[in-house]
Amino acid sequence: MKDRERQLVITAHTRLLGIFGYPVGHSLSPQIHNAALAAQGLDYVYLAFEVVPEQLPQAIGGMRALSMRGANITIPHKEAVIPLLDGVDAAAQRVGAVNTVVNDRGLLVGYNTDVGGFQQALRALCPKGVEGEVCLLLGAGGAARAVVAGLMEEKVQRIYIANRTTSRAVALSESAKTWAGDTELVVLPWEAVREGVSKARILINATPLGLTTAVKELPFPVDILHSNHVVLDLAYGAEDTQLVKAAKARGALAADGKEMLIGQAAGSYRLWTGIDPPLDVMRDGLMSRQG
Ligand code: NAP
Repeated sequence: MKDRERQLVITAHTRLLGIFGYPVGHSLSPQIHNAALAAQGLDYVYLAFEVVPEQLPQAIGGMRALSMRGANITIPHKEAVIPLLDGVDAAAQRVGAVNTVVNDRGLLVGYNTDVGGFQQALRALCPKGVEGEVCLLLGAGGAARAVVAGLMEEKVQRIYIANRTTSRAVALSESAKTWAGDTELVVLPWEAVREGVSKARILINATPLGLTTAVKELPFPVDILHSNHVVLDLAYGAEDTQLVKAAKARGALAADGKEMLIGQAAGSYRLWTGIDPPLDVMRDGLMSRQG
């Protein structure tokens, strides 16, 4: 039997992993992780738990009571979980959000693997790196904060940040200015996105705009995209997002958020198991429900 075809066997020794979110029914994380765990013959199982915001403290208490090895934390709990933990690592502290909790003999520590996941997705598009590049980021939510942290670590020259609510872009820029690095941070008004597209080579969408055909409005004015642009849309679905389709049609290099999802999952998996996951198996697991 090929590795990736191994069946998951649950015993009394099987350790529990999971994801806490609200809602969580759309999550692709269980199939990504269970595919990799089964392929590597690791004795864990990964389940999705719908946790309403008022019950988050009980859910975290449950991790301790049931000796869960770890959990992913997703919308809307990534910030609220921090005071419930025993500590957070430097990246999670900087970003102000935790997407991974590790339970080490009752000590719960929070991490942020979205930063590494974003960098993995960017590296897939730009294998030579992005040092010295000029970027435009749309959005100022949790994902955008991880993007700024990742781009600063990659030593980009400048990041233009535009957000529908400008005050949130200003707050993100101000806090990022306190992080280590020489990257310039410039807030653009939402109405000036077109100007940003003409100044930047790397364009990142960290809003849900353009995810489906239901959302007609695209995040960037695609008519001025050209073949030198690199477009990374953090949103993802079964097929390319509207933005990715439009960018590819203009000759730009473009990808959706699936590789970031795989990258953050791989980071969490390493933290829980101490083992590098098989990325191709994770990608197959992701696609198994998409098709
Ligand atoms: P979030 O914290 O709720 O932030 C949402 C962001 O989108 C905010 O900047 C918000 O602007 C903006 N936005 C929402 N609706 C908008 C609209 N109709 N017009 C203009 N801007 C709008 O969410 P998040 O966690 O940052 O997630 C943002 C996107 O990234 C989502 O599509 C999510 O699926 C994706 N994501 C992908 C990954 C991955 O692994 N690929 C990981 C995390 C997130 P305001 O501040 O004005 O509300």
